[in-house]
Amino acid sequence: MFSCVGYGAASATAPLKPLTFERRECGPNDVQIDITHCGVCHSDIHTVRSEWGESLYPCVPGHEIIGRVVKTGSSVTRFKVGDCVGVGCMVDSCRHCDSCTAGLEQYCDANPVWTYNSPDAAFPQEGAYTFGGYSRSIVVTEHFVLKVPETLDPAAAAPLLCAGITTWSPLAHWKVGKGHKVGVVGLGGLGHMAVKFAVALGAEVTLFTTSPNKVEDGKRLGAHRVVISKDAEAMAAEHNRFDFILDAVSADHDVNAYLALLRQDGHMVLVGLPEKPMSVAAFALVGKRRSLAGSAIGGIKETQEMLDFCGKHNITADIEMIRMDQINDAYERVLRSDVKYRFVIDMESLPKAI
Ligand code: NAP
Ligand code: ZN
Ligand code: ZN
Repeated sequence: MFSCVGYGAASATAPLKPLTFERRECGPNDVQIDITHCGVCHSDIHTVRSEWGESLYPCVPGHEIIGRVVKTGSSVTRFKVGDCVGVGCMVDSCRHCDSCTAGLEQYCDANPVWTYNSPDAAFPQEGAYTFGGYSRSIVVTEHFVLKVPETLDPAAAAPLLCAGITTWSPLAHWKVGKGHKVGVVGLGGLGHMAVKFAVALGAEVTLFTTSPNKVEDGKRLGAHRVVISKDAEAMAAEHNRFDFILDAVSADHDVNAYLALLRQDGHMVLVGLPEKPMSVAAFALVGKRRSLAGSAIGGIKETQEMLDFCGKHNITADIEMIRMDQINDAYERVLRSDVKYRFVIDMESLPKAI
């Protein structure tokens, strides 16, 4: 074991502060990574603040990790020292259930080992759990490490590891492409990647936003149309139009208002994870045989496919770089929907020792 410097919270109401914790040594199947950048996902905030159930403290979040390989175990074949690599929301899974063998480790029957705040069998002591990417380094089993195209700016590539794959996976699964009318709800970290991907896949994309000041950005990011979702008349004009709607909203909102926008047999997929259950009107689905589904991140294979697609088409996130000690202010700005469109932490700014 070795001591690692990171940033974490001591409780659901405490600010994030510098701390140290133990990482496992690099084993035969492991890759040790010096973290250079980490994106700030809204899930980090939900978890730090115990909004999805009781979190474990201290809580060190961060699952949009980019770094350089500094050590490889003796059995590692796909990586070498110096490679630019990524780690997303998972660091392990059972590897033999139907979901894992299908390359969809995020749906592992035994639950994946999440990158942070998840039980960690790599440590012998009872109650050990994982620590995320707001830290100096991480040790991850080879299967869960991604190759990041060297042509991409590593800072702007960090959000691909969660915001990117979470929006790519449902677009790929529901085969969104040319000739489809697609709606994206919420222009945050996930939403802005959804707009970029849906446009790159050839769909006609409409952004739904509560923020009138994001209209121009929505168009710059490629959306063909932008609708202010608080405008009832504008929403009514969109009824029965869409083949596919991706909902990336982080807070309580009325999903029935968006179900009404689907045409017959249209699909709406939730990727946003608001704290409280939402109510769905049966009439909103039944009348036009519409479907409502959910989707979690993406498997390792499809994450690599998404990164390779981004390398080929030069797609990254629009980011604002922050220092590690700006993280608490950054959280407040995310909660005000005031981020364009992902904060990424420059890990050089992490204290060398504490
Ligand atoms: P984010 O950057 O904060 O974006 C959320 C957007 O939702 C905001 O920019 C805002 O867009 C809209 N919004 C916020 N509050 C709203 C409200 N009260 N009513 C309507 N719209 C509102 O968050 P994110 O990092 O993209 O994450 C979005 C959600 O996805 C979070 O719940 C996160 O935990 C979840 N998530 C899920 C997965 C998964 O695997 N399914 C993976 C990662 C994240 P406008 O200003 O445009 O309205
Ligand atoms: Zn995330
Ligand atoms: Zn499994």
